[in-house]
Amino acid sequence: MGIGMKIFCNKCSFEKEVYLGKGMSFFDGFDIFLEYSPDIISDSELKRLNSVRRRRSKIDFYKELYHCHKCNNISTNLYVEFIYDINKKFIIEHLCHKCEIPLEVIAPKDVRQKPCPICGENLQINEDSFLWD
Ligand SMILES: [Zn+2]
Ligand SMILES: [Zn+2]
Repeated sequence: MGIGMKIFCNKCSFEKEVYLGKGMSFFDGFDIFLEYSPDIISDSELKRLNSVRRRRSKIDFYKELYHCHKCNNISTNLYVEFIYDINKKFIIEHLCHKCEIPLEVIAPKDVRQKPCPICGENLQINEDSFLWD
């Protein structure tokens, strides 16, 4: 289940529908963690985490809005937060495809403070959201 919203610009034709939330069902969050294979964690550490994951780890993943502060592109990506060894946290970083710099997670209401990627006017968001699954 998730929420759909429309982001648009009043000045130009920029328009984008986005879907946020936990809209996908996954078999096992740990597999996603492995797939993104964080460089900061060694193979042996991963093996160890895998063996203790049921007791001491937790993974959260949902679609979030991401903003690039260089080209102002707004996109949706899977936000993945993996908590392991009780208090260590790993968050998967997403890069802008164009600028190759880390994207920033933003809340839907913050979209109004972001400039349109095409013309620079402040963006609008239609929060009369609809549910999807
Ligand atoms: Zn615009
Ligand atoms: Zn960018």
